[in-house]
Amino acid sequence: MKSINNMRLQFISRSANEGFARTAVSAFIACLDPTIEELADIKTAVSEAVTNCIVHAYAEEMGQVYLSADIFPGGRVVIKIRDRGCGIPDVEKAMEPLFTTGGEERAGLGFAVMQSLMDKVRVRSQPGKGTTVTLERRISSKGNADA
Ligand code: ATP
Ligand code: MG
Repeated sequence: MKSINNMRLQFISRSANEGFARTAVSAFIACLDPTIEELADIKTAVSEAVTNCIVHAYAEEMGQVYLSADIFPGGRVVIKIRDRGCGIPDVEKAMEPLFTTGGEERAGLGFAVMQSLMDKVRVRSQPGKGTTVTLERRISSKGNADA
């Protein structure tokens, strides 16, 4: 199905841009008239995925983060966060709650949080090449009931 609206962003993996990405996505989906809770959930999930690019994908250097958001009929929102960083050798294991390679500073809960807040989370990764996280959530507010 073709998306009815789309946006793309590219930014460097500075931690200041985590807030930028979250707010940009929030502004983009505002046209769907989401509830405050829906907005907060999506912002948190985007934030977790972008933070992972900053702290894990490009741990030793700066790199580009690519974000796209698509709105489909019915209020389905699909957000992709992609990096060309170190990649994840075992995605299934990385997605287990409490698994982290980040040492004591990290809780290992980012993917679990994304999964609890979104309808679908997909992760594709190639070690040495990068990672794409796809987040999907339907905005169920009144305005989209028959969209
Ligand atoms: P928290 O999110 O709670 O601060 P965390 O980032 O370690 O801790 P998750 O977000 O669940 O926890 O990620 C789990 C692990 O998956 C990370 O520790 C890291 O090894 C790997 N990972 C996640 N995203 C990426 C990425 N974009 N590139 C490379 N590795 C990643
Ligand atoms: Mg994380």
